[in-house]
Amino acid sequence: MKDIQQNIADIEQKICAAAQKSGRKREDILLLAVSKTIDVQHIQEAVDCGLTELGENKVQEILEKYEKLENVSWHLIGHLQTNKVKYIIDKVKMIHSVDSLKLAEEINKRAKQANIIMDILVEVNMEQEESKFGVSPEDTLSLIQNIAFLDNIRIKGLMTVAPFVDNPEENRDCFRRMKQLLVDINNEKIDNVHMSILSMGMSNDFEVAIEEGATIVRVGTNIFGKRVYPQK
Ligand SMILES: *Cc1c(COP(=O)(O)O)cnc(C)c1O
Repeated sequence: MKDIQQNIADIEQKICAAAQKSGRKREDILLLAVSKTIDVQHIQEAVDCGLTELGENKVQEILEKYEKLENVSWHLIGHLQTNKVKYIIDKVKMIHSVDSLKLAEEINKRAKQANIIMDILVEVNMEQEESKFGVSPEDTLSLIQNIAFLDNIRIKGLMTVAPFVDNPEENRDCFRRMKQLLVDINNEKIDNVHMSILSMGMSNDFEVAIEEGATIVRVGTNIFGKRVYPQK
């Protein structure tokens, strides 16, 4: 197994190549280190390599790691239950997984109490997979129109978890439609809504995602190695 530093260097090179290939700037793309199931010591190695933005999909894991890592920011990328918003509202920089008005309203309420404005992404279930969270592409505009009324939320863009595929090219069309959805919704000129973030692409397909306009790629396995889930 290569070490984390080498893994990051390899990914960095691929990000640069994909950006160049599509006429984009490297600095317009954030490499979000997905640290779920990874212990603090290994995460610190990635942080020391400059990856200071970390993604977790469970509230509990953010709470456990929050005090132990300094000078980092946390992104919640997994499904968020309404009753857990209060635990992380003052701890995360962005919530990538907003897929209902009810959840947005709770985030808004807690953000107001904390006197902050929370940046969020709307999660889109692009291929309408049953196993996945997210709003359907058809319902995304109306959800955003409703969230736009909430004063303590800033809608920064869209997020998707693309299907698991053998060949990343199979997801190119999905990423392309995500980009188009963002452009179309911006063209609606909804008050307070101008989206610029596309959070899409993971270890398997981040290069294709970048070529199609991703501004955040969420990478776990390629940085830290295969995840080991604790036995229940
Ligand atoms: C785990 C996870 C990732 C990272 O997946 P890898 O294939 O390990 O890079 C990205 N996004 C979400 C929402 C995840 O849960």
